Amino acid sequence: MSASATAPLGIYVSIPFCRAKCTYCNFASDVFPAARLDGYVHAICREIRGRRTHCLAKRMQLPGGADSIYLGGGTPSTLAPHHLRQIFDALRESFDVFPDAEITVECAPGQISDAFLAECCTQGVNRVSLGVQSFVDAEAAAVGRRHGRSTVLADLARLRAAGVSNINVDLIAGLPRQTAASWRESLQVALDTGVPHVSVYMLDVDEDSRLGRELLTGGEKYGAQRTPGDEATAAMYEEACAMLGQGGLLQYEISNFARPGQQSRHNLKYWDGVPYVGFGLDAHSCLPGRDGDWFRTANPDAMDSYLEDPMSPAVERISRTGQIEERWFLGLRRTCGVSLPELQAEFGTEALTAFAGVVQAAVKEGLLEHGHARIRLTPRGRLFANEIFARFLDVLPPVSEALPRNLEHEVTIA
Ligand code: SF4
Repeated sequence: MSASATAPLGIYVSIPFCRAKCTYCNFASDVFPAARLDGYVHAICREIRGRRTHCLAKRMQLPGGADSIYLGGGTPSTLAPHHLRQIFDALRESFDVFPDAEITVECAPGQISDAFLAECCTQGVNRVSLGVQSFVDAEAAAVGRRHGRSTVLADLARLRAAGVSNINVDLIAGLPRQTAASWRESLQVALDTGVPHVSVYMLDVDEDSRLGRELLTGGEKYGAQRTPGDEATAAMYEEACAMLGQGGLLQYEISNFARPGQQSRHNLKYWDGVPYVGFGLDAHSCLPGRDGDWFRTANPDAMDSYLEDPMSPAVERISRTGQIEERWFLGLRRTCGVSLPELQAEFGTEALTAFAGVVQAAVKEGLLEHGHARIRLTPRGRLFANEIFARFLDVLPPVSEALPRNLEHEVTIA
């Protein structure tokens, strides 16, 4: 069992209720009737309380101590205070939540009631992630957001007055109507607010959102014709890396920037290969087994199926090959990259040698770089991250369950 298997747990709770569906959204969230909230929260609490028994039956380990909780969505700020209380009661009954745990709630600007904020503080919420997407009002409105810049600034003041200063702002590059100048304006406003964390995403173009479908198949309803295009969006991303870095928000992952010491503890768990558990619609978990193996679980992504049976996620054992591949491409998401000695210590020499060709080719192309016994993406490589990650799949033969654990020699990979 690796040391990471015994790390404290991260807990994710999915609240897929939104007041309106943003045109770019490809999540399982929706504008479900508010009347369904009671039943949904009841199902989540059942799931939280029953998960340990489920894990035992499936030979998975569920760590007892948790040092991060993340309520995401959807829009968790649609919950009533008593819903929040019910969820935290179930979590604290089922887990030992550390006193210094990072507890994050995602909120939509303009949708944070005083009562909700007060209950967050009572429950120990110490971090808020705001789905801003753009500080330019016409851009936010074009994708269905219901807030403007002044609303966001007012919410930031309210959160700080309530004692929550650890705040993330989400921004999206590539929105309809966005230009290089308007993007710089959004970045500058984000910097001027003094928030310690900003996440920057490039618009997803896939058929799971209305805007994405329109981009793929044509149409004018959602503004696809007015999106900046791939090259301009890539340039916006590079501008974000430069501006945020100059403003003291250092990039620590492909999409995430933080002032020193204010990285998201919860999100780091997804890339560092430590256990996390997810509750609610479409929530995923990654948990160690009893014998050095790991498991991934996935809840239903259809509301009716989840409510019918919140206790039976799909369970998949992650093969040893899969663990090594994930360690590569999840590690490469981090700015610090993949530590070769750590990879070798955990999986043996072959976890390095098998990928030497892939790494060397990407280094030659200027997409990866090496130094201080680590391999990392170059700034250019971050623009092609998904393509690079795909190269790490299917390199090892599926029979590598019995990889030799040769801890004795150092391997030079690049
Ligand atoms: S608020 Fe977030 S989850 Fe809800 S529709 Fe918009 S992007 Fe999707």
